[in-house]
Amino acid sequence: MAWQRSGDTGATYPKLMAVRGDARADDRTINEIAGFVWRLSMQSGAHTTDYVLDVGTVEMLGGSRTTELLRLAVKHRLLTKVRTDHGAGYKLIEDPDFIHLRSKAEVEWERQQRNDTRNVSLLIPVLLRDGDSCRWCGIGVVWLGRKTARSGEWDHLVPGQPGTVETMVVACVGCNRARGGDVERWDSAHTLRPAPQRPRYGEATAKKLTDNGYPTTPVDDEVRLALAPGADTAPKRVRSATATSDNTAPAPGRAQEVPQEVPRNAVPRSVRTTPAGSGRVGPDLGLGRSTAIDLALSDPPARRRGRRGGRRNPNRGDT
Ligand SMILES: [Zn+2]
Repeated sequence: MAWQRSGDTGATYPKLMAVRGDARADDRTINEIAGFVWRLSMQSGAHTTDYVLDVGTVEMLGGSRTTELLRLAVKHRLLTKVRTDHGAGYKLIEDPDFIHLRSKAEVEWERQQRNDTRNVSLLIPVLLRDGDSCRWCGIGVVWLGRKTARSGEWDHLVPGQPGTVETMVVACVGCNRARGGDVERWDSAHTLRPAPQRPRYGEATAKKLTDNGYPTTPVDDEVRLALAPGADTAPKRVRSATATSDNTAPAPGRAQEVPQEVPRNAVPRSVRTTPAGSGRVGPDLGLGRSTAIDLALSDPPARRRGRRGGRRNPNRGDT
């Protein structure tokens, strides 16, 4: 994703067009100011300075025309003079109709999401605990094939914070993305289901768990059916959080009240008493073989956009 975007109507942005009325402007001035401001924005976006530029950068890009360009840009509120930790600086106008920059918080959060959703030592315990069920609506999720509303994703319960086993859950695309659009609103209207006492494992999930030290066999016909070619029985509408499913008890609390540990009953009893395969079943998660899990279980964070060119909320939910 580009660090900097311009609105479709940016070329005729009113504050930019207003430069024409300046007594010292001629028909070249708008293009000069536009080029100056856009170069500044690219510089800010590339270095994630959140619209702020130091004087040195401004002078470097403005060259011999810096004084006049600053006069016009400040006069027409395309730039504002500010103080920074390093002295004087200028702040670009924040308006997605003209220029939108990704904030440092957004960039860092997306990087964190990417890392978390590729972190096998984090994902396997979550998968073991939740199985192939959405922790919000309870439907069986699938990890392979075409993305649909019931595809599985990883949801950070605490957006903006690095994921932990306690703060990440399995979620269907429908719930995860709806929550990502407005986390606060979603969380105020929905209750996270408790981790299933008998997690449902589809064949792909059972294989992943097995490959990563938790010998597991598929345990749910519903998931198996969902994995059948062409199957897509995802609900048209996400169910209310107050609904219950056949494998979860009524939700007792809010999203933050998550189970604190991976249920040991997630592993078949025979496996626990007679470890097979790696023999690394137990508190030692045996996840040193991080390459044993493939990307089917680590979908990259979904890129969500608000209004066109709008600034993304770093507090949004994620994958
Ligand atoms: Zn769901």
